Amino acid sequence: QQRFMAAFTHAAIGMAIVRKDGVILQVNMALCSLVARTGAELVGRPFNQLLHVGDVGPFQRQARAVLDSSEESFSMELRALGVGGAECWVSVHCSRYEDPAGVGEGLIYQLHDITSRHLAEGRLLHIAYHDGLTDLANRNCFHERLEVAVERSRLDAEQRFAVLFLDLDRFKMVNDSLGHMAGNQLLHEVAQRLHHCVRPIDLVARLGGDEFAILLESLHDAESGMRLAQRVLDVLSQPLSIHGTEVVPGASVGITFSDLGYRTVDEVLRDADLAMYEAKAGGRGRVVMFDSSMHEKVAEKLALESDLRHAIGEGQLSVHFQPLFELEPYRLIGFEALARWTHPQRGPVSPEVFIALAEESGRIEALTDWIIDHAVGQLASWRRLYPQAGSLGMHINISGRDLERTSLVDRVRQVLETHAVPASSLTLEITETTLMGRLEVALQTMGQLRELGVRFSIDDFGTGYSSLSYLSTLPIDSLKIDRSFVMGLQEKPQNVEIVRAVLNLGQSLGRRVIAEGIETPRQLSALRELGVPVGQGYLLSRPLRAEQVQDLLDVGVVLPN
Ligand code: C2E
Ligand code: MG
Ligand code: MG
Repeated sequence: QQRFMAAFTHAAIGMAIVRKDGVILQVNMALCSLVARTGAELVGRPFNQLLHVGDVGPFQRQARAVLDSSEESFSMELRALGVGGAECWVSVHCSRYEDPAGVGEGLIYQLHDITSRHLAEGRLLHIAYHDGLTDLANRNCFHERLEVAVERSRLDAEQRFAVLFLDLDRFKMVNDSLGHMAGNQLLHEVAQRLHHCVRPIDLVARLGGDEFAILLESLHDAESGMRLAQRVLDVLSQPLSIHGTEVVPGASVGITFSDLGYRTVDEVLRDADLAMYEAKAGGRGRVVMFDSSMHEKVAEKLALESDLRHAIGEGQLSVHFQPLFELEPYRLIGFEALARWTHPQRGPVSPEVFIALAEESGRIEALTDWIIDHAVGQLASWRRLYPQAGSLGMHINISGRDLERTSLVDRVRQVLETHAVPASSLTLEITETTLMGRLEVALQTMGQLRELGVRFSIDDFGTGYSSLSYLSTLPIDSLKIDRSFVMGLQEKPQNVEIVRAVLNLGQSLGRRVIAEGIETPRQLSALRELGVPVGQGYLLSRPLRAEQVQDLLDVGVVLPN
């Protein structure tokens, strides 16, 4: 008896013998230290008082089942009140016993402290559902919560929700120019701001990269969702300082509401994402609400993309040539080749549209190659037909993707050889934004083409953010002042100053300046007065078909008044 008693008293796990009515009869030392009470304090009191109130109910149900013999024993994990009433996790095993002393049946409880295991599990769970950098919910967590919200609103349409999809407008720039640490700092700050500007019931998640999502639940109407989205934008438009550089995070936000009757999480995310793309395309820093016409747009874009794939082979593409003139004295010096696509059903498609489409879908290489071959071939034939055309040059637009491939250099070399046209007659135009966005790669390809003798021009100059220090080192021959400055020459006096500044810049760097989009005689005379050497525009000539160029070369060029 004494040996058994000793085994009970000194056992490493907490034990209690409890009467049928739940009152403690006996406890061991391990239980006393687990709940930080003496044996005298425990005996005679209900066992339930040692447990967290929230867990008493389920525990009692199980204990009753053992007492009325429907269960042999049970084990469960629950919260107990440990040292100083602090919550601790225990694993409880309970079994029944017959008391020979005539008290009837009772229960034996064995308790294990599992607090540290529980904490570790909690940490693992946290990691599985949170983003390591910002500690916001991650994609997994967002997905699961959204799944519940979708299900709830399917059962009851009054249970409205909205999903906001956010993409930072300047993350790549910060990452590229200030480094990854700065990028992380920006993400961290954005996470904090988002977290603080929503309601406690809303879920903010980082889906990856610079993409965030917010789930708004218990929404009364769409307006309150839009108001919250606007608040998010306002909060993100406050500048912050990273390594002494002031950065405005800014974001584009797409939003969609459960009223559209979603059935799956993927449908919701797809629509919020589409709306976000619309927001970005519409000029960033905006909130756009999803509507179903966006699906049609995507479908149409896909159809157009697939049509474009056949366009080159089926002869739907052509090139128009817009003459370039020296302004004083007035004479034709060359052409800019402009791609044209006449769709068999839709008619002409704007180059702004199909060039962007070709870039996105990886068709731009084929398109550029075709244009270069066609335009240089055309120039060669004019040079053969008209001796006075010997000095004419050809400008061809290329896109950023073209500069990233080395095959462009071989292609250009081959085309120039085939048509026996000197490299100096060919000028490749790159828009300022494209060039500044990928200087590193661009410089390599440009360097090689430059060695061949090919020239370069910066297109749409003034609309990007050229780093002036770079500009002096780039292998550029000319700057084309963007149309928007020429158009507003009369209305906005500051445009005159901009044109003058570009001219000065060109002069000091030894680069020629070309004015685009001259439409009126007043613009022309203003540009002449300022001393702009070269220009193009509807006033001087619209882009022409090859036969029209031939007519022009036949009759010679007339000076516009
Ligand atoms: P860009 O290179 O700046 O070409 C000049 C654009 O201005 C052309 O538009 C031309 O038709 C238009 N333009 C010329 N004079 C005037 C004028 O007086 N007033 C107005 N309002 N517009 C004038 P287009 O042909 O629609 O081309 C648009 C853009 O598409 C081009 O801008 C160029 O960036 C791109 N693009 C055109 N062809 C090609 C190509 O073969 N390859 C690449 N990568 N891009 C091309
Ligand atoms: Mg151009
Ligand atoms: Mg331009």
